[in-house]
Amino acid sequence: MQVFKFGGASVKDANGVKNVASVLQKVGYKNTLIVVSAMGKTTNALEVVINNYFNNKKELHSAIQEVKKYHNAILLDLFDDEKHPSFKKTAALFDELRSFLEVNKSPDYSFVYDQVIGYGELVSTVIISEYFDFIGIKNDWVDAREHIKTDNYYRRGNVNWEDTQNLITKNFNKSVLNITQGFIGSDTNNFTTTLGREGSDYTAAIYAYCLNADSVTIWKDVPGVLNADPRYFENAQLLNKISYREAIELAFYGASVIHPKTLQPLQQKEIPLYVKSFLNPEAPGTMVGKELVIEPNIPCFIVKKDQVLISLSSLDFSYIVEENISEIFSLLHTYKMKVDVIQNSAISFSVCVDNIYNNLDKLLLHLKAKFKVTCHEHVSLYTIRHYNENAINQLEKGKTILLKQLTEGTVQMVTT
Ligand code: ADP
Ligand code: ASP
Ligand code: MG
Repeated sequence: MQVFKFGGASVKDANGVKNVASVLQKVGYKNTLIVVSAMGKTTNALEVVINNYFNNKKELHSAIQEVKKYHNAILLDLFDDEKHPSFKKTAALFDELRSFLEVNKSPDYSFVYDQVIGYGELVSTVIISEYFDFIGIKNDWVDAREHIKTDNYYRRGNVNWEDTQNLITKNFNKSVLNITQGFIGSDTNNFTTTLGREGSDYTAAIYAYCLNADSVTIWKDVPGVLNADPRYFENAQLLNKISYREAIELAFYGASVIHPKTLQPLQQKEIPLYVKSFLNPEAPGTMVGKELVIEPNIPCFIVKKDQVLISLSSLDFSYIVEENISEIFSLLHTYKMKVDVIQNSAISFSVCVDNIYNNLDKLLLHLKAKFKVTCHEHVSLYTIRHYNENAINQLEKGKTILLKQLTEGTVQMVTT
């Protein structure tokens, strides 16, 4: 078995969908499972729907219509004829979404979020499955929620591996081309859950693990894993081979090309991961595998924008000791701050965090009661793996460095 994952960028319009078909025709699709994300920026658009449901009811209907219109335009491009059954099938999904919102009584934002957000993936896979049938690529549409079981930690479900493995072993037909959704699963009450934003790569890895697949390929709008994000760095170079360990480190520091949770299940079963371009499917891309030495061995640059640097010193110039640090960490945990880097000296403590859940003000209020606090918002965190002098100089040029930390193999800098 091979598992392919196509992300939102690959199916953002009708040409994208046609291109997915052409990728399959070029590279072959025997014994293949295809995991697909929501089309283009649909997930963001559904986040607006959810937000309107809670905070701006009068714009709720129009926000749903917008998502529907976008998909209808793609359907028209693909099928020409509005009588094609795919129109009815997608319309039925939007009706289902509306009725859920009408009858829902739960005030739990995260629960409602997960019941709504997955329609992006449901609609995209219905469209792709129908289009493949239309052009003669026979396939089975599979509901990932019938396989992937999680707890009810909505918006970031934790996989129940035992149940998931059992369901996939029992109910997965390996002899056909299967098309399923990334990102979604279900809890023990069969409510929809999600694996966290950008989680479709992880879905591919979960299936690959449970199916003992031979490989996973994630198809991207870049030639593979590069030594830097081409949106922010000129002359980014393709990495031909990297180890699981290297990929885990790159994802951990923020290289958004692979979802961080994807690597672990693959590494456990030594299933190779390929990252390839959907625009150039026959090119080799990047291979991620066991004990591969990074090739070429060049510095890798990672940037995380819009981070927050908080620096604390004691109000009376006393030392910052273990007790204070433990208190600071407990607050960071309470407010779900993702900690990127820490640095401490005798009387000061600095921490760079990702304010994912918008809790900064609340955190600062607590900290100010105990410490002298300075806070820089909207700073960038740069990480260089396999750094050398030249790479550091290149990065530092023209920037104000607020914090710098060197460890073996990795340097991190926080800049304004
Ligand atoms: P998907 O369509 O699968 O969701 P993403 O947009 O999430 O794809 O990921 C692809 C993007 O990741 C690329 O367009 C690129 O801008 C970004 N990216 C960040 N770091 C890297 C890197 N090291 N190598 C390649 N791409 C990177
Ligand atoms: N559609 C989801 C998101 O945009 C999952 C994914 O694309 O991986 O986060
Ligand atoms: Mg993505």
